[in-house]
Amino acid sequence: MKRKVIAIVNQKGGVGKTTTTINLSAKLAEKNKKVLTADMDPQGNTTTGLGVNKSELSGTIYDMLIGNTYLENIRIKTGVTGLDLLPANVDLAGAEVELLEMENRQYILSKYLNNIKYLYDYVIIDCPPSLNILTLNALCAADSVLVPIQCEFYALEGFRQLKDTVERIKKHLNKNLRIEGVVFTMFDARTNLSIQVVDNVKKFLDDDVFTAVVPRNVKLAEAPSYSAPINQYAPKSKGAEAYGYLAELVMGREE
Ligand code: ATP
Ligand code: MG
Repeated sequence: MKRKVIAIVNQKGGVGKTTTTINLSAKLAEKNKKVLTADMDPQGNTTTGLGVNKSELSGTIYDMLIGNTYLENIRIKTGVTGLDLLPANVDLAGAEVELLEMENRQYILSKYLNNIKYLYDYVIIDCPPSLNILTLNALCAADSVLVPIQCEFYALEGFRQLKDTVERIKKHLNKNLRIEGVVFTMFDARTNLSIQVVDNVKKFLDDDVFTAVVPRNVKLAEAPSYSAPINQYAPKSKGAEAYGYLAELVMGREE
């Protein structure tokens, strides 16, 4: 089965979820795929990083979640050909409370995406750094999970917790869900720790989970301040190369 809707998830903060969302999306678009990127984080970093001004939005993913509007009305084009965005801003922080009373509140994103995903080859969802109702919506809408893991000491512990969560969701809420790949981010080949983290996490992965490594690369950190993904800001950088490889791995799963 083709895994089309991919949630980028890790409950740990600052591990490279947004960087991976933006640059994987942009690389897939560069390879002529039609991509819809959904920003499920109130921080709205994916929205800003793709060059969209958060203060000029006519509607956000929050309006959709609470039933104020349809996906079609909030979807916008980005500066990347073939890449559309469902934007977010800080309004989304209120969704958790407002959704409390709603029936099937974990399936709202899934329901709306079902009306629109036939238009795209891939839907990539950026998640906030917690396992809240927003992340739950992403996991219920997704075919697969891609986990960015920062190469640092506590990475494995966090990953095991996430693996358990995905198993529980698979059992009760979304039977097709699976962890499809792991992206080791901010990898530094000069440190033993980076190498150890990769080795340790790999021991916990099922055989069919792919892994990719993204090196620490300053261009990746700079790109958002130029409102551009890496393939526009620094197309020849190591970071661009790494995300290009990740896009190939994701596309290699198409069957
Ligand atoms: P949050 O949990 O707050 O949403 P996140 O998991 O989305 O964070 P990012 O925002 O993608 O993480 O990355 C955290 C910081 O690390 C950012 O400043 C980003 O520019 C930087 N960063 C991410 N990946 C790399 C990399 N490979 N090389 C250098 N810097 C990186
Ligand atoms: Mg983020």
